[in-house]
Amino acid sequence: MNYTNYSSFFGSRDVFACTSHNDFDYSIIKNKKSFIKNLKLNHSNIAVPTQTHSNNVKVVNTNSTYNNTDGLVNYGSNKILTLLTADCVPIFIYDKIKKNISLVHSGWRGLSTGIFFNAMDILFKANNSIKDFKFVMGPSIKKCCYEVDIKVYSKFDKKFYELKNDGKAMLDLQSVLLNQILSYGVFISDVLIDKECTKCSYKKFFSYRREKGNSGRMLSIFNLMLK
Ligand SMILES: [Zn+2]
Repeated sequence: MNYTNYSSFFGSRDVFACTSHNDFDYSIIKNKKSFIKNLKLNHSNIAVPTQTHSNNVKVVNTNSTYNNTDGLVNYGSNKILTLLTADCVPIFIYDKIKKNISLVHSGWRGLSTGIFFNAMDILFKANNSIKDFKFVMGPSIKKCCYEVDIKVYSKFDKKFYELKNDGKAMLDLQSVLLNQILSYGVFISDVLIDKECTKCSYKKFFSYRREKGNSGRMLSIFNLMLK
C-alpha cells in the first residue's frame, strides 16, 4: 500500500494528508476501506463526496456521503475527508491556527467555475488571515501531457496554455490553481506542488487520460488528528 505523505509540509502533528499510489483502484469500496484501516484510521468516520466536476463545497457534518460535491471542509469534527482523482489536482488546504482543513477536487471544470474560491470563502468564515494557510497540490496531470481542445482554451487566461499547430493546446492546470492561490497574497513557500505528472509516471499513478477513461482512482485523505 503505497502513498505520498504530505503531512510534514503542514508543520503540524495535527493533520495527516496523503494521496495513494495505484496499487489498488480506490473507487472500489473495499479497497478504500482497507487503505484507511491500514492507516489505523476509523473507516466509519469517512466523509465521501459524490464527485461531479461541480464547484460545490460542503462543510462536513455527521453524514458520510455528500451528493454533487467536489470539495469538503472540516471545522474540527472527527470526519476524515476523502477524494478520488486520476489526473485532476487534489488540493489540501490547512488553516494552522483554527485547525480547519479542506480537500478539493480541482479539474478544469471546477477551477473555471470557482471551486477553489468557494472553499476559501468557507474557510475564511472562521479565519481570514491568509498567512495562517498552507496548500498542497497532490499528483496530477502536467502541461507535458494535458492536451485540451478549443472548448477548454477559452476558460482561462492564455498565459496558462501552450498552443500547438493542430489548434489544440497544452494546459498548465497547476499554474491556474497556483495563480488563484497567490491572488490571496499567499507566499509561494506556503504552497507545495507535487512534481509528478500522473500520465508520465505510469508505474505509480492512475491517469484518466493515459488509460482513456478506464483508469482506477487514487485516494486522497485529509484528517485532523484530534486529541
Ligand atoms: Zn506528463
